[in-house]
Amino acid sequence: VDTFEKLSELFNRFPGIGPRQSRRFVYFLLGQSPQYAAELSRLIAELPRSVASCRSCFRYFPASAHSDLCGICGSSRRDTSLLMVVERDADLESMEKSRAYQGRYFVLGASIPILEKNPEETVRLRQLKQRIEQEGTTLSEVILAMSLTTEGEHTMEHIAACLRPMAEEFDFKISTLGRGLSTGTELEYSDATTIANAFKTRT
Ligand SMILES: [Zn+2]
Repeated sequence: VDTFEKLSELFNRFPGIGPRQSRRFVYFLLGQSPQYAAELSRLIAELPRSVASCRSCFRYFPASAHSDLCGICGSSRRDTSLLMVVERDADLESMEKSRAYQGRYFVLGASIPILEKNPEETVRLRQLKQRIEQEGTTLSEVILAMSLTTEGEHTMEHIAACLRPMAEEFDFKISTLGRGLSTGTELEYSDATTIANAFKTRT
């Protein structure tokens, strides 16, 4: 096995990383001390055991023997009548940083590609419906907080269509983020003020 090629191929799968960058990563590693590489591989090997996925919102959080719920889902101070659906963990973190939102979350895990034939296998749609089945009566609003990209809007429309019958059954509102976010921006890269405004002006 050609270790150099294999490793650069693995880096190439990282989000936003192309073949040239992935080769630069391998050259960078070659220039580091053996301790650096050892520490890196140790942490990567430990990652699955040290991080857990929350039973309720599916976000990643430091694994704990005490709870299978993350700090947000386990908190009694969050407004349980609000549920915000985001594409990725990074979007949730950006929303938390804005301090505009006090409800709880659900992380889809990805966005739905335009031509995707099996959205249920791409995102946690089934788990989202299950959660709403369980909590439907306490919900007053489900906020779809997707990026203003083509894929984000596609995801939002698909999720909204899937949730509409449940919104009628349980009598909650489905809203989306309002103005403030400019077209093409990923939620993850928007600043706190912009996100807070987009949340306040949701419709
Ligand atoms: Zn959680």
